[in-house]
Amino acid sequence: MVAQMNTLTIILIVLAAAAALFYLLMKISINRSISKVQQPPAEIPDDMVKCFSCGHVVPVESALEKKGRYFCGLKKSERDELQDE
Ligand SMILES: [Zn+2]
Repeated sequence: MVAQMNTLTIILIVLAAAAALFYLLMKISINRSISKVQQPPAEIPDDMVKCFSCGHVVPVESALEKKGRYFCGLKKSERDELQDE
């Protein structure tokens, strides 16, 4: 009987710990999703456009426009150099 009680107590403790851990993880993930929603997308100045292909923000005069979509026209190696700055 005592051994059974101990096993039950251990199971209860493990369950409580698991529930607490689950609750904490849920709280963290909810906080993350809320902060994601609250953060507005990065504002792009009026004279800048976002590349449809790679998402790079480039001045509108240097961007290539095709069917209403803007492209930076940079090769990948050129982009990498810009991002290093
Ligand atoms: Zn691009």
